[in-house]
Amino acid sequence: MTSDPSRSINPVLLAKTKERIEGEVKLASLARLKGILLENEGELKYSFAFEIDESGICVVNSDIQTRLILECQRCFKPIEIELQKSSILGVVNEKDEFDTLAKEYEPLQLEGGVTTLQELIEDELLLSVPLSILHPVNECSGVEDLNRINAEAKLQPFAGLASLLKNKD
Ligand SMILES: [Zn+2]
Repeated sequence: MTSDPSRSINPVLLAKTKERIEGEVKLASLARLKGILLENEGELKYSFAFEIDESGICVVNSDIQTRLILECQRCFKPIEIELQKSSILGVVNEKDEFDTLAKEYEPLQLEGGVTTLQELIEDELLLSVPLSILHPVNECSGVEDLNRINAEAKLQPFAGLASLLKNKD
């Protein structure tokens, strides 16, 4: 089964018939990722399998896979990461149900019992995208700048002392 990711879905209904929805979505269409990605070209593969577990909880087996271009926080140049995340989401209707949910489940609270695949995808992505990412030291052009700044910072106190000594006379 495939579906338009922005269309509203009811996980409980889908779980009753054990539906599985797979597809691809353009990263550019994921609104909540704006500002996180340096470039939004590319696609994301997703798979969601819905079922009711033994205790009657609606479960969504989620799997997303993509390649993201983020910004190195040291040199501000692109850095590419492969991202794959599998999660088991347990649907909760009320806040107090969070505690009763099995530990291996991530709580998924729904408004009015419905959501969209896009919401699910964005939630999963936002949980797994690193907030601060750096190139390895030997591949990052920001390291030289950083070394220079550090070196200048070290020299500075002596320069200050020199001028202080001069003014003494
Ligand atoms: Zn870098």
